[in-house]
Amino acid sequence: MQNRKPRIAGRHFLQIPGPSPVPERIMRAMDMPTIDHRGPEFQALGKRVLAGIKTIFKTTQPVIIFPASGTAAWEAALVNTLSPGDKVLMYETGHFASLWKSLATKLGLVPEFIASDWRSGADASKIEAHLKADTAHTIKAVCVVHNETSTGATSRIDEVRAAIDAARHPALLMVDSISGIGSADYRHDEWGVDVSIGGSQKGLMLPPGISFNAVSPRAVEASHTSRMPKAYFAWDEMLKSNKDGWFPTTPATTLLYGLDAAIDMIHEEGLDAVFTRHQRHAAATRRAVAGWGLETVCRDEKFHSPVLTGVMMPEGHNADTLRKVALETFDISLGTGLGKLAGRAFRIGHLGDINDLTLVGALAGVEMSLAAARVPHRVGGVSAAMQYLTETSHRTAR
Ligand SMILES: *Cc1c(COP(=O)(O)O)cnc(C)c1O
Repeated sequence: MQNRKPRIAGRHFLQIPGPSPVPERIMRAMDMPTIDHRGPEFQALGKRVLAGIKTIFKTTQPVIIFPASGTAAWEAALVNTLSPGDKVLMYETGHFASLWKSLATKLGLVPEFIASDWRSGADASKIEAHLKADTAHTIKAVCVVHNETSTGATSRIDEVRAAIDAARHPALLMVDSISGIGSADYRHDEWGVDVSIGGSQKGLMLPPGISFNAVSPRAVEASHTSRMPKAYFAWDEMLKSNKDGWFPTTPATTLLYGLDAAIDMIHEEGLDAVFTRHQRHAAATRRAVAGWGLETVCRDEKFHSPVLTGVMMPEGHNADTLRKVALETFDISLGTGLGKLAGRAFRIGHLGDINDLTLVGALAGVEMSLAAARVPHRVGGVSAAMQYLTETSHRTAR
């Protein structure tokens, strides 16, 4: 007992853009004995979650659930549909897009990367121009990150779809919505996405450990001729077993109990209400950032993320020093700057199970930490956010 740190009262503020805090109802739903995954009780659960998750992706097509983190679902999307040496068009929205590109390269694909300064979303007109120039149709897939978690920019997937159509290009469309799904509006079928990639630990409010591939008929067709090596991540066995609620290998039963509860919770609030809540909290956060006299990482109004807000540090001040002070002084975790934003930016997560007072508490934690870490800023960011939340509170009143 002697060397233990003193107890910190109250709950820790986990305000990183994933993993997001797991609500008690989901924790209770997961507090179950492990069951026989070849028994009738599991089959009922399997059928329920496999049907339920489709409503979150807004699809009538199959959604595959892997017991693995989001990165595995990136890999699964590529290896199931493509062949060695295939060109893929990717867009450098930020760190996660860069990681996905590097994974594609390691797998033996040949990415063409549309460069960006990480301060905006994907420009669909650049995708269109790139595809129009590919008259021989050597590009086999367009891969875009929906919500770029390293910056706080949400790309317009409807515009990307329209760009592919305008170029009359047959490439598949693959979208990483690992941090978007369950927090930002997402429409797999309407947007004509071939593979949508999701994760459990962000908008779905679950612990890390499962991830998703929503697949279009064209993607399934491509999987029949794809020559990338695959075994564990192959869709065929999964799709066959899933038809009756089963999984080919031992599924993450505990997380599926949680997923079942998460889907219910999202529909009890209403998908659109969930999206509006996230947008409102993001708008309040941006008012706080402006009130502090700081800049958001995403500079373009059109692409501001409902999930998280990236904040640039004033010149000469390190974001990780601020994060350390925040954690040690106020027990709040803020997201670190990733890749080329390391030290230069921090991220405020406002996704998942968050209400107005959670957000105000988190923003107060940031404002007090800016003062404690002696980062030059104006006071009044929290007040600006509070004023906005008060003015718009009728939208959430019961
Ligand atoms: C979190 C995240 C990933 C990586 O997911 P893991 O579960 O950490 O493997 C990929 N892309 C985006 C956009 C993410 O937010």
